[in-house]
Amino acid sequence: MDFTGKAAIVTGGANGIGAAVARGFVQRGGRVCIVDRDADAGEALAAELGKSAIFRAADVTRAGEVQAYVQATLEAFGTVDAFHNNAGIEGKVAPTAEYEEAVYDAVMGVNVKGVFLGLRHVLPVMLRQGRGAVVNTASIAGLVGTPGMSAYVASKHAVIGLTKVAAGEVGPQGVRVNAVCPGPIDTRMVQDIAKQVSPNNPGGVEERYAAGIPLRRYGRAEEVANLVLFLLSDLAGNITGAHYVVDGGRTAS
Ligand code: NAD
Repeated sequence: MDFTGKAAIVTGGANGIGAAVARGFVQRGGRVCIVDRDADAGEALAAELGKSAIFRAADVTRAGEVQAYVQATLEAFGTVDAFHNNAGIEGKVAPTAEYEEAVYDAVMGVNVKGVFLGLRHVLPVMLRQGRGAVVNTASIAGLVGTPGMSAYVASKHAVIGLTKVAAGEVGPQGVRVNAVCPGPIDTRMVQDIAKQVSPNNPGGVEERYAAGIPLRRYGRAEEVANLVLFLLSDLAGNITGAHYVVDGGRTAS
């Protein structure tokens, strides 16, 4: 994979999976605009990556801030060749019968509206260019239900729907849109979920859950990044409208 001369935007790029994608894109010759609401981590990563990276603080649920990060990328790099539409939150773990409406709205706001707004403002640029590749971060929660995660599961099913619609719309103009579906990946997000499920023994949650995964472990952010980078690269030139699982075999049986 070679991203020399290419520019990417990575939302949720300051931490976890997004940070691994930003690093991987730059390591392979590209330039990246890291977008996140966590300014401290975003600035630190941009400093680590040097001249090939800029950071833009933004809340992906706000259209004006989305427009601003697209504009900033165009001003810095001239094109948007790759877009990892990745920012997401997990919300609370609670049965649907007790789920708080405000938490539901917050999860759908970031995970669905945020992804929609990213597509809404990046796709016109790619359509003008006549090329570009997008990867939306869904989850295995976009394929199967997990008790206690109604908003998150609904939001990730929606991400797969948005991916299919956008791919059908922009394919004729040379733009590809795919989704990735990670299983549990060792980032802040799964650690937070484990603390919610078992405040006194979060490590036990990982042990129990990993026992149900054929590879018997959580994935690493870099392992998701490898798949995302492949889908963003020209090697995936005939792939669009698809979703790919990276879950250690969790959903295979
Ligand atoms: P993470 O919490 O480390 O990273 C998420 C990033 O998104 C953070 O940097 C956070 O500041 C940013 N963010 C959250 N809300 C935002 C907003 N409104 N505007 C801008 N930035 C915002 O977690 P992660 O595991 O790296 O998650 C990345 C994506 O992967 C998410 O969409 C998540 O749902 C998905 N995912 C994660 C796992 C997992 O097990 N970790 C599994 C499947 C899917």
